[in-house]
Amino acid sequence: MEFQQQEITLQVAQTARDFARQHIKPYVMQWDETQEFPLQVFKEMGKLGLMGVLVPEEYGGSGLGYLEYVAVIEEVSKVCGSVGLSLAAHNSLCTGHILQFANEEQKKKYLPSLASCEWLGAWGLTEPNTGSDAGNMRTTAVRDGDFWVLNGTKNWITHGISGDVAVVIARTGEPRTSGNSTAFIVDRGTPGFSGGKKENKLGMRASETAEMIFDHCRIHDSQRMGEVGDGFKQALKVLDGGRISIAALSVGIARGAYEASLQYSKERYQFDQPISHFQGISFKLADMITEIEAAELLTLQAADLKNKKLPVTKEAAMAKYYASEVAVRVSTDAVQIFGGYGYTKDFPVEKFYRDSKLCTIGEGTSEIQKTVIARQILK
Ligand SMILES: Cc1cc2nc3c(=O)[nH]c(=O)nc-3n(C[C@H](O)[C@H](O)[C@H](O)COP(=O)(O)OP(=O)(O)OC[C@H]3O[C@@H](n4cnc5c(N)ncnc54)[C@H](O)[C@@H]3O)c2cc1C
Repeated sequence: MEFQQQEITLQVAQTARDFARQHIKPYVMQWDETQEFPLQVFKEMGKLGLMGVLVPEEYGGSGLGYLEYVAVIEEVSKVCGSVGLSLAAHNSLCTGHILQFANEEQKKKYLPSLASCEWLGAWGLTEPNTGSDAGNMRTTAVRDGDFWVLNGTKNWITHGISGDVAVVIARTGEPRTSGNSTAFIVDRGTPGFSGGKKENKLGMRASETAEMIFDHCRIHDSQRMGEVGDGFKQALKVLDGGRISIAALSVGIARGAYEASLQYSKERYQFDQPISHFQGISFKLADMITEIEAAELLTLQAADLKNKKLPVTKEAAMAKYYASEVAVRVSTDAVQIFGGYGYTKDFPVEKFYRDSKLCTIGEGTSEIQKTVIARQILK
């Protein structure tokens, strides 16, 4: 693995950093308080190529690799986890699924508009009764000649209401059998497809999370991705890439919390000295940066394997598991370093603290990551 970042990665990171400082930072708390999903910001990021980072140039994307993708997610998440989460869901879940499993005609139809963010993407696997046990889904797609009829509800879907294009995994076979689900692309506006309840969340409040409802939603077979029965298998591959982005989101949140704490610890005086002079504080900072750099290395390792198209299931799960737990630990310590001020909305660390918790849950909980890692090392 190459540890030295290439010029292109540094340039892309700088672009994302500048954009986040100028167009996201000033509004972070306003969007958080009101739970406003700032769609316009994603349209602007589309113009910079940040909504189609991994999409080849021939389909209108930036044609970059996972190292650049990780850098973009990290830079944005240092400023706002919500925007980082939505960026990740659009790039690696919806767009990523189409990029990996759509046929040529589907790629030409969807990728350019997703890469420019003319269309915002959503990806629906989870349901009210099946989260970790996603293979046991209840949403069905029943064949009717050249069409499929979808019925059921997906929940916790990032952009469940605002998404223009949704990739949906639905059951096409008997429950609890292998190869019983299939992936479809559903356009917003298709009769029988609607957004449902928007969640009122602890953190990530500017990232829209909502239900997607299918009520006798009829779609043509040309909207099916890959073979009938391959849906869950495809989803697991998509999640390998997605988990790298959640690891990057976690590292970004942790870095944001750490950098704020480092600065504050030098400026805040107690007992006539900066609090950074107390070993109780400086050791916290030492633990924070050590864990962040370890999490970043695991993330870069997974990104490097993904770029080389090598098996990455274990490494992506390790990066996601470790980095997300680090984000929670670091942002918890950050609130502690800020003391009472850390408990208020006048300083950024309470938001990092709230946002970080999603990272140990979304795209597979920490317990599920450990299951994935254990399965890989014991096979
Ligand atoms: C903000 C947000 C955005 C999301 N975005 C999307 C999206 O865009 N698309 C999408 O499809 N989903 C999305 N999700 C759903 C997310 O992936 C699920 O919430 C997650 O997979 C966990 O599922 P669950 O919530 O049903 O928890 P459950 O599966 O019910 O888990 C509850 C608890 O039981 C534990 N548990 C379950 N099974 C096991 C086991 N076998 N061994 C040990 N412990 C176990 C879990 O680790 C957890 O602690 C999102 C969720 C959130 C909160």
